Amino acid sequence: MIVVKSPKEISIMLKSCEISALALEHAGSLVRSGISTWEIDRSLGNFIKSMGAKPSFKGLYGFPGNACISVNEELIHGIPSKKRVLKDGDIVSIDVGAFKDGFHGDNTATFAVGEIAEKAKRLLEVTEQSLYEGIKQARAGNRVGDISGAIQTYCESRGFFVPKEYFGHGVGRSLHEDPNVPNYGKPGKGPRLTPGMTLAVEPMINSTTAKTKTLPDGWTVVEANGNLSAHFEHTVLITAGEPLIMTVRKL
Ligand code: MG
Repeated sequence: MIVVKSPKEISIMLKSCEISALALEHAGSLVRSGISTWEIDRSLGNFIKSMGAKPSFKGLYGFPGNACISVNEELIHGIPSKKRVLKDGDIVSIDVGAFKDGFHGDNTATFAVGEIAEKAKRLLEVTEQSLYEGIKQARAGNRVGDISGAIQTYCESRGFFVPKEYFGHGVGRSLHEDPNVPNYGKPGKGPRLTPGMTLAVEPMINSTTAKTKTLPDGWTVVEANGNLSAHFEHTVLITAGEPLIMTVRKL
């Protein structure tokens, strides 16, 4: 069931989203060669708690970390680990949500560790821009497929690949609500967007194949060829006019 939020609910949820954005910014500030993903995760957890919120992912479906931290070929759901130490040239995706006063915010960015290769830069630029191409379509009267199709077309026309197994989603009182927001699809198809819907739009993009694999840890999803993947996400409010990005530093 798609949940449409009241203006009062939106005003509460904006705080969770702002904390999510601040947490992502904090995590990004820690990214450097020599830091482990566990250290980033621990600091992130403390940061979210200091804002009076809880990390949305901790314990979700049994996930052990505060955030999903995925390095290089890891697309999503990387488990923070003391053994995973970042080095120059890596890219790292940090997917973080915060829960406060009954609502979640959800956002992700992929960060460069030091200098990265041109092909990695290109992947990051295209994946991030595809998020904004999707968000442009997040308007009342459009359908979910307009968001999906915009992301797919933007990425595929630039030579990148869209995995089909993982979706964006509605977000609110639950981290994962209806509807699914796939990163592929046809404009004009899918549920109609109405004011008060809050969606996590999140292109997850591979460099050489749409196929993915899940590692034996049961969580980490990787690009099937072992090449780079990237992930950007915002929580977005459908309004009567322009889409509102909720996961921003200051509102
Ligand atoms: Mg999400």
